Amino acid sequence: MTARWLSKNALILCASLAVLCVHLVLEAVIPDELLDPFYYFVTGFALFALAACIWRAWHCPRGLRVHWLLIATALLSWISANVIIMVSTVLNHPPSPTTTTIDDFFYFFYGIPLLLAISMPEKDKASRAFFLLELIQAVAAGYLAYVVLFGTLPFTSIPNRPLSEVNLIIVFDVQALLLAILATTRFIVASRGSVERRYLAILTGYLWLYGLSSAAYNHLVVMGSFTANHPTLSNVLGAIVDVPFLALALAALMLPTPVRHTQGSEEKTPLALLVDNARPIFFGFSIVILSAIVAQHHLAVALGFIIGAFAVYGIRSALLQSRLQQTRIALEKANGRLGELAMLDGLTGVANRRSFNDRVQTEWVRAQRIGKPLALLVMDIDHFKEFNDSYGHVVGDECLRHLVRSVRAVLHRPADMLARYGGDEFVVLLPETDASGALHVAELMKDALRTQEWSGEGSPIAITISIGCSCWESLPGATPEALFEAADKALYQAKQHGRDRVEFLEVKIATVQ
Ligand code: GH3
Ligand code: MG
Repeated sequence: MTARWLSKNALILCASLAVLCVHLVLEAVIPDELLDPFYYFVTGFALFALAACIWRAWHCPRGLRVHWLLIATALLSWISANVIIMVSTVLNHPPSPTTTTIDDFFYFFYGIPLLLAISMPEKDKASRAFFLLELIQAVAAGYLAYVVLFGTLPFTSIPNRPLSEVNLIIVFDVQALLLAILATTRFIVASRGSVERRYLAILTGYLWLYGLSSAAYNHLVVMGSFTANHPTLSNVLGAIVDVPFLALALAALMLPTPVRHTQGSEEKTPLALLVDNARPIFFGFSIVILSAIVAQHHLAVALGFIIGAFAVYGIRSALLQSRLQQTRIALEKANGRLGELAMLDGLTGVANRRSFNDRVQTEWVRAQRIGKPLALLVMDIDHFKEFNDSYGHVVGDECLRHLVRSVRAVLHRPADMLARYGGDEFVVLLPETDASGALHVAELMKDALRTQEWSGEGSPIAITISIGCSCWESLPGATPEALFEAADKALYQAKQHGRDRVEFLEVKIATVQ
């Protein structure tokens, strides 16, 4: 597998470098008047990168698919600009260098999907609506930026206010630099080892290479005296524009996806979250400012964009608000359920020891306040170890559940509490119940359990329980712990006296020695 991967990648690498060499040679040997191979090769490499991004989109985690497709869209826009230049050159209508033409629009538009590809956090399903809103905002901001820069509405017959070649190149330099800086920022805050960080590393690398190579090309080859002085060298230098596309294609095809995959915002730093959340405000703000500038010449268009920006902002806020409420309700439900579960015994569904400990304190204080007795039963199944050994733990568990059902049937007062104290030991708290009442309830429980006989491989076994019973009536200075201790001792006595019985012991005040 690894050997095959290596040989496949080595083949792609060699073929790509060979094409790059051919380009260099052709630039050196073919005279400009005959044919300029620059656009053909650069467009070919950009097409290669486009195909690689689409391939990667289908071979990356779903959350990043749109990101790769956005890079592909940007490349498509860039390629379209080149194709327009190539076709018009072939048709002998090369674009005028003194006016901004439709190819400039496509070069400019190239930045918008890239801006989205940089700024969008790794996507989950629920954020589809947010993505759509962001897309609308980014396209609107890009459109307005174009109108501001070129003084015309694209795809209309309104004449433009052409930018000088120098200014046009500066616009593209600034665009490339801004994109590279933004991508670097996102890359720095992305969580280490994540798939998103790997993606941002590739994108950042590409954007810096693109920015540097296109700046070098524009400033040395298109402008300045370098071309006139060194025509062949400047032609060869043109081939550096191939490099970013080649690098992007190879990285998209070859770099493996890291194993660790972050979900949503769980591993994001506060800075990363701030960068994510400030983005929509940045887009909305840009639309309003750009619209204000455009309003000088195209008032209706500007007003339309401002109203649109507010509408998008409103929809986004409403969506966020409802999402927040949904999350809050779900969280409250989960919290409530978690709280309940923390107080219940997983096997039998009755209150657990922690819940009993809380309740016994409350009932103790209440009993003292109202001056009513508080009784406690501590019960334990007799010879349960043997039972488990004979029938297995699954039947043992069922037996514990049966005990709970039987004991519950005997308890009628809402304030009575049955809890599993641990293992085969259960406690019953009986508020406002005196000693005789507690003994009566204990006897009822003992009898209730006898109704089922368990039959396994040997002779049937009837489950019995021993119960220790105690009651606080009015003894001053007693504590809940003393009540428990008395009931526990009574249980020990019941076991000592032959099991299957109820014993009672008075609460005693612990004496300090
Ligand atoms: P005694 O009459 O003295 O109480 O004898 P015993 O065998 O019941 O002894 P003890 O109460 O100390 O034994 C507790 C046994 O309860 C040990 C274990 O086999 C069983 N047990 C504890 N928890 C569980 C449980 O969750 N499920 C099952 N099936 N058995 C349990
Ligand atoms: Mg037992």
